[in-house]
Amino acid sequence: MPDHSADYLAGAPSRTLHPPPPSSSSSSSIRKSPSAAPSSPLPCQSGGKKVIVGPYEVGRLLGCGAFAKVYHARHTGTGQSVALKVLSKHKLLRSGLAGNVRREICAMRRLCHPNILRLLDVLASRSRIYLVLELAKGGELFSRLTGRGRLTEDLARPIFHQLLSAVAYAHVHGVFHRDLKPENLLLLDDSAHPRLKVSDFGLAAIADQLLVLPHRHLPDRSPPLFRTICGTPAYVAPEVLSCRPYDAAKADLWSCGVVLFVLVAGYLPFNDPNLMALYRKICRAEFRCPRWVSPDLRRLLGRLLDPDPAGRISAAEIVHEPWFRKGLDADRFASVTRPHRHDLDGRIASKIGDSGSEEDRDGDLNAFDLIALSPSLDLSGFFAGLELATPLPWRERFISGDSAEEILARVEAAAAGEEGMTVRRLGKEGRAGAALEGPAGELVVLVVLRRLNRELVMVEMETGVGDGNGDFLRERLRPALGGSVGVTDIRGSGSTGSEPDLVLFDEPDESSSTSSS
Ligand code: ATP
Ligand code: MG
Repeated sequence: MPDHSADYLAGAPSRTLHPPPPSSSSSSSIRKSPSAAPSSPLPCQSGGKKVIVGPYEVGRLLGCGAFAKVYHARHTGTGQSVALKVLSKHKLLRSGLAGNVRREICAMRRLCHPNILRLLDVLASRSRIYLVLELAKGGELFSRLTGRGRLTEDLARPIFHQLLSAVAYAHVHGVFHRDLKPENLLLLDDSAHPRLKVSDFGLAAIADQLLVLPHRHLPDRSPPLFRTICGTPAYVAPEVLSCRPYDAAKADLWSCGVVLFVLVAGYLPFNDPNLMALYRKICRAEFRCPRWVSPDLRRLLGRLLDPDPAGRISAAEIVHEPWFRKGLDADRFASVTRPHRHDLDGRIASKIGDSGSEEDRDGDLNAFDLIALSPSLDLSGFFAGLELATPLPWRERFISGDSAEEILARVEAAAAGEEGMTVRRLGKEGRAGAALEGPAGELVVLVVLRRLNRELVMVEMETGVGDGNGDFLRERLRPALGGSVGVTDIRGSGSTGSEPDLVLFDEPDESSSTSSS
């Protein structure tokens, strides 16, 4: 049987299983996962012309995925370097994978962890979506393996600590990655002990509710189960292949086990050019540790690569494993992976400016806020009309001639009609708002009021991630708040309808995009 481990380490593309597009009747489609691309200029830079996207100047190509190109970019004002992930709306809609971007945005906005790539901003032009990401200068963990073949256990361990910390944190926040593999694990820099950054949440599953509950403890709940078959074959857990509902947390831990094996062995535990044979090996957990693997690590790999998800080790149990414990700051690990209130409250504070020291002021909106009111630049229009499993936070803004007090009183009246809904008033007079929360303390809608001048108030409403929040916002809250002055329901028009001729960014040449699908 041919050994493909060398191909793998030389960067031969693994393949990613994607959930079928909403319109497709076929089973999972398969596409290539990204391969590291050589640096190259944007085609539209060839004339020496600078490419500016919003406040960013676009530089060299960092990598290619199946639907995205990722460029180095620099903020023209602050000089901050970022990675700009550029996606074509047209290609996403045509391939039925718009939901992946939606999931990616939802998942990354929910997570704030030192080992998870930060989503800094989302921009849009008429034909493209731009995810502004924290820059991982060290590139893919995959390329580090290519250079060294494999890592010693002492080098692999801190990387695995970081991976588990990120994965456990994501799980307690209701996000399950479902495509963990070295290509999606980036390194912050080129140092000998680089910080790991988990990236590419395009296949993430998101539990309906935030597991982060302000002012309350985590409820005792059984894990959410998912059905979608997705991931990269060599890294996918057996229960995901079985077409039965699976616990995505345990499935992620299996993938972590495969990653750990690859790190220390230098090749995949399950490998076969024939997909059915590969699946058989995975389902029977047929793998053999190389002779240089220590007994403690053998034991841990055996517990991670247990084909029975019920018997597989959990993120909570792993801290008791001798191999994992070595060099681990267990208290720090536990505190980082514990659910944090700051995710929700930080989001509220950043919108409301409720820090206590913030000065109230009129004219809160800047030019970018106003430009963002254009349907052509707002992503919510792009996602309108798509049947997608995970709700994107629904956002609406309008300008009201009523006072902040009147608006908030109407918000409270609308919430009073909903069972178990409570309203927390936020902020001060100049920037006020309210968080409408469901029975478990989950965010239903965040309302932010910004005073434009003495007569006018900008009302912004954004839903939490749960099902039905968008309906409540549209059908009950919005009508209760009365008419708008001048503008604007930004959600309404949709990207495929007519869009105003307002384009903020240079449009890279559509024909220059490559697709490996
Ligand atoms: P996939 O085909 O796996 O779904 P994708 O289209 O979602 O991929 P990404 O995996 O997010 O795209 O990015 C493609 C490649 O771009 C990565 O494998 C990596 O090499 C590079 N890349 C992505 N994000 C960053 C970043 N923040 N910093 C540096 N390089 C990055
Ligand atoms: Mg990727």
